[in-house]
Amino acid sequence: MGNMVSPSEVWPEVWEKFLTRAEPSLSDHVLETWLRPIQCSSFEDGVATLEVRDQFSRDWLHDHYFDFIRDGLAQVTGQPVAIEWKINPELHNATLSPLCADEDSSISGVSTADKPRQREHPQLNKRYTFESFVCGPSNQFALAATRAVAEKPGKAYNPLFIYGRVGLGKTHLLQAIGQEVLKHYSDQRIIYCTSEQFTNEVVNAVLGNKLKQLHEKYRSNCSVLLIDDIQMIAGKERTQNEFFYIFNQLYDSQRQIVVTSDKLPHEIPDIDERLRNRFQFGLIADIQAPEIETRVAILHRKALDEGLELPDDVAFFLAESVRSNIRELEGALVRVLAHASLTGATVTVDYARQVLADILRTRTQRLTVESIQRTVAEYFSVRVADLKSRRRPKDLVRSRQVAMYLARKHAGASYPDLGARFGDKDHTTVMSACKKIDRLLKSDSDLRCEITELERQLDVMHK
Ligand code: ADP
Ligand code: MG
Repeated sequence: MGNMVSPSEVWPEVWEKFLTRAEPSLSDHVLETWLRPIQCSSFEDGVATLEVRDQFSRDWLHDHYFDFIRDGLAQVTGQPVAIEWKINPELHNATLSPLCADEDSSISGVSTADKPRQREHPQLNKRYTFESFVCGPSNQFALAATRAVAEKPGKAYNPLFIYGRVGLGKTHLLQAIGQEVLKHYSDQRIIYCTSEQFTNEVVNAVLGNKLKQLHEKYRSNCSVLLIDDIQMIAGKERTQNEFFYIFNQLYDSQRQIVVTSDKLPHEIPDIDERLRNRFQFGLIADIQAPEIETRVAILHRKALDEGLELPDDVAFFLAESVRSNIRELEGALVRVLAHASLTGATVTVDYARQVLADILRTRTQRLTVESIQRTVAEYFSVRVADLKSRRRPKDLVRSRQVAMYLARKHAGASYPDLGARFGDKDHTTVMSACKKIDRLLKSDSDLRCEITELERQLDVMHK
């Protein structure tokens, strides 16, 4: 063994070093809630594996701090670093009550005396409240509807269907309902989950013969059901069946159901007509893309929350640069502020332009194959690696073909080049994928919707 130190052994130190350096540039809130709970489990060949407690943390960190962490680690180690996220549910207890971490695990595991609400509802992110939601003409209807529902769950509008494009605040409002209800009615049992989590629960219940428990959880022991991204239930028959029965039971006993979706009920493909009807009968509250004033107000609000200063002209510049997705707008802000604090620079418009150069550049240039792959992968909830793989489940093949088609159309790459960038495939594979999508587009309206939405998402960075 001698003096050799393996990278994984020095890795915790590297992470500590990174945190120490990053500390001054982060608010306490971000540091304690998001960065500190991360556990680094390995660092090999320039790939850092970062463990987080749940999908929610992973998504949030990925959306907001990915560049910051990657660049910060690269600075500390002096080499390019790639990041791999891993979800480790065991971190849950540790992160919820860091003060108990060293105590007897039987105590720290079950003691709920100090923070019962947080422990009961680890799915609700306390940042997502009505207070932190900036109101503007684009979202005031949805805000009013969700507030009404939170005030009188089961009585005002049931079900409530929150509709809006990606990154416009659906999850935020959905979670805000949960928090608000808890504030006023601490006895209410709130379930928040994404429709994917719900699907997994159904699958596991079926496999493990545990449908009874599932029904108990959702039908008997739930007073407010919040399901995020319900459009993902498309095509999942068994899940839809279970959901339909749960829905009826809750509805009949005047218990509140709220769902969000980035498609309107009639646009969701492959969904049980009875379920579609139920959604259509409820109130549909839509969120539109925010106006410039709202975007500026959101930026100021976020900066304030982080305790960081944001000059007006920089806020305006950012709001002008990123128009149709608040998540990206926030990402741009975080990136500029974090870079500025790391390097000690003053935040000016020029500085922001420089930090965001690569994002802004793609607006005037062609999109890259990589950014198209990322967008498509995220949209279909697969990994970029899956798109490049040779695996052939039907859904995946379709996602891959769509990615190839869009890459050909918008990145202007040649067939052989695309083949190489999609995991070393033959150019004829790419060619036939593009032809196939071209052909299907004439008859398949679901596909047309998907492509339009993807092109809209890509346009955010493109134009
Ligand atoms: P969606 O679920 O519609 O894709 P999210 O609810 O995840 O979008 O919102 C994306 C990000 O934008 C979140 O961090 C959210 O807090 C923020 N956001 C969206 N709308 C607003 C708003 N009106 N005021 C403050 N923050 C907002
Ligand atoms: Mg969402």
